[in-house]
Amino acid sequence: MLKVETDPGSGFCGGVIRAISRAEQYLSTGETLYSLGAIVHNEAELARLGERGLVTVSSPSDVPVGASMLIRAHGEPPSTYVAAMERSLTVIDCTCPVVLRLQGRIREAYSRLHSGGNHGTVVIFGRVGHAEVLGLLGQTGGNAVVVENASMLSEALSSGMIDVSQPAEIFSQTTKSPSEYAQICSQLRAVVPSLVVHDTICAQVASRHSSLATFARAHDVVIFVAGKSSSNGKVLSDLCRRENPRTYIVGGPSEIDPSWFAGASTVGVCGATSTPQWLLEQVAGAIAAL
Ligand code: SF4
Repeated sequence: MLKVETDPGSGFCGGVIRAISRAEQYLSTGETLYSLGAIVHNEAELARLGERGLVTVSSPSDVPVGASMLIRAHGEPPSTYVAAMERSLTVIDCTCPVVLRLQGRIREAYSRLHSGGNHGTVVIFGRVGHAEVLGLLGQTGGNAVVVENASMLSEALSSGMIDVSQPAEIFSQTTKSPSEYAQICSQLRAVVPSLVVHDTICAQVASRHSSLATFARAHDVVIFVAGKSSSNGKVLSDLCRRENPRTYIVGGPSEIDPSWFAGASTVGVCGATSTPQWLLEQVAGAIAAL
């Protein structure tokens, strides 16, 4: 008989819990709420909220004039607030306080690096095109360099996008891997010795990295539950697979393949900061019933 354990550290992070509870509070009035982008990168949770009246849109111009628009935990660039004002939208701003602080720090760094005739660079370690990264980039008017990995950083250095004769400050998207960020910082510091490194990975994410590694090693098979578009899901499931090659990613119970558990006696079920607790429990229940 398989012993199934759900990771107590998995499930929504504080920023997502806050955004969803504000959305639910609003939806309880019976009004339609328009979410600018998916409120959480999890298809099952989106379907649940969709039934309650949450409509996901991709631009403020898709929201009827005068209606209410939710800004999710990832945050938005200043241009979004201007667009919302132009359409007389009521903004339900659910930007995570951690992201809000990061946006402010990037704005300050940008003005510092461009004061007194300097032309320094703000570097953002994050996924190109990710909503949080677009919001961060917007704090510099689009004048920061976004790098996803070591080869993009090398390219930015060789093309002169990062001027190594000028000061530079680096920030990370909140959900990136702490070890990859450390590698990127040391690569950049090798050519910009005065580099200022800002520790901006969310504490909730950073602590999950170490506890999840231990959890993944402690089980014969790991089932990682995440939506396909979750950036944090990709980072954390990669970590689990490095620690335990018998790691499988599923969106829900219907994707479970019983052959994965051949010869196993323990299964660990875990997920991303965007995976709802109810879905983790459903998956764990489905495995236990095999
Ligand atoms: S991962 Fe951290 S920073 Fe990002 S939304 Fe969640 S709590 Fe906020």
